[in-house]
Amino acid sequence: MPNLDILPFPDLIGFDYFKNMEIDKNRQWLTNAVDVVSMNISRSCPFSCTFCTRAERGPFRQMSIDKIFEQIDWMLSLHPNFEGIHFNGELTFASRQFTLEFCQRIKPYNLKWYASMHVNQVSEKLFMAMKDGGCVLVMLGIESGDDRILKSMNKHSTVKQAGNAIKIAADVGLDIRGILVFGDPEETWDTFNNTVKWEHKSREWFELLPKSNMLRYLVVAYPGTQLYKDACEKGLIKNPVNFLKEELPYINLTKFTDQEYNKMYDLVKIERSGEKIKNAYAECENDYTVNVTGICAKCGNALSFTQLKEVFPSFMAYSAGRCHSCNERHNISPIMYCDIEKLSKNIKALVDKNTVAVWSVTDGNFFKLLDIAPALHNDNVWFVNKVWKGTSEGALNPARLGKNIFTPDIINSENIHTVIVPNSPEEFNDIKATIATDFPQVKRVVHITELL
Ligand code: SF4
Repeated sequence: MPNLDILPFPDLIGFDYFKNMEIDKNRQWLTNAVDVVSMNISRSCPFSCTFCTRAERGPFRQMSIDKIFEQIDWMLSLHPNFEGIHFNGELTFASRQFTLEFCQRIKPYNLKWYASMHVNQVSEKLFMAMKDGGCVLVMLGIESGDDRILKSMNKHSTVKQAGNAIKIAADVGLDIRGILVFGDPEETWDTFNNTVKWEHKSREWFELLPKSNMLRYLVVAYPGTQLYKDACEKGLIKNPVNFLKEELPYINLTKFTDQEYNKMYDLVKIERSGEKIKNAYAECENDYTVNVTGICAKCGNALSFTQLKEVFPSFMAYSAGRCHSCNERHNISPIMYCDIEKLSKNIKALVDKNTVAVWSVTDGNFFKLLDIAPALHNDNVWFVNKVWKGTSEGALNPARLGKNIFTPDIINSENIHTVIVPNSPEEFNDIKATIATDFPQVKRVVHITELL
């Protein structure tokens, strides 16, 4: 669709959007507005970073200014109370001229809004105009704190530009949400450490920007991207259908060994999920959920996150919570606060007396479990998953650590009577029901929280 102006407005009435729109606490907090709507005024992006799915979306297109305000007026006529807009395109503002004009036009509406833009577009004049027009936060793809990686990513920006952008934002008083992406083919410990150092430095600038933060991600070889094509050519993705079925596992595209890659994965994950909670305590409930309580390291407020469903949240799963008082991001992964020694001992006690299956493990919890409970390396322990059979091409393929994953039939062929389930309560109940029907000889199905 080359001309976005001829598209009809989204069917907000048909979907009863304003009634059903999910209250997003983060959006409310970012904008200090109660009702924050989403709006997309562009498609794709003029840049072509090697890791970005934008490649699938054709050339960059932007709605005309007149059409944008026609849509805002229409939305206000349907729901006069909304006070904020999240412009959710990949790159909402790609031209300085367009952005300046947009800011002038939106100012009288008195709306609070946030959107993404490219680091190399930033200037003091632009950020001042955006702030004046009601912008509260800008999302910037910083990606790396090392110019070698930015070049390899075809990012068309430099570390200096990123630093300048944040300093200007701090001067003007605009919050920033930055994104860092690790695992480019040129990533080394040198570039990784440079990025981490840069990230820590950026926190000093963020002192003046209370709602700013930096998010960490790992590169995923999304189909259609340059990285995906390279990975196929290099034989890192041998079977594209399996790759899709396995939900795009992380692939080691770097020159790191797989062990080093796994270490990087852990380092990225730890910081991505936020700060650890002070004096944290994890307590399991009878319904296999976990409560985590403690103290916010930033403001000293008492924290309480209840009924968490994943003891081992995977990399992409929600594992961060915010302090209700100062909004500091905290890692609330229960496994960080559980009695690991007790868990290890209890698993060992089971494994010493029984042949055991662990059903169903996903990448993140698999490695954590093996770390925590060495007894799981024993030959009488079998890892089981219904769909993932250890054929993964991803760097986190467990076969590379000497353990494989089998289909549940192994429970019959190895005459297994004890099964440990580390997953959410819902998955636990499903697995329990399957075992009762298909493997009646199993005597004990234990949820991980029962061993904590
Ligand atoms: S990462 Fe950002 S700048 Fe790069 S292609 Fe994607 S949307 Fe454009």
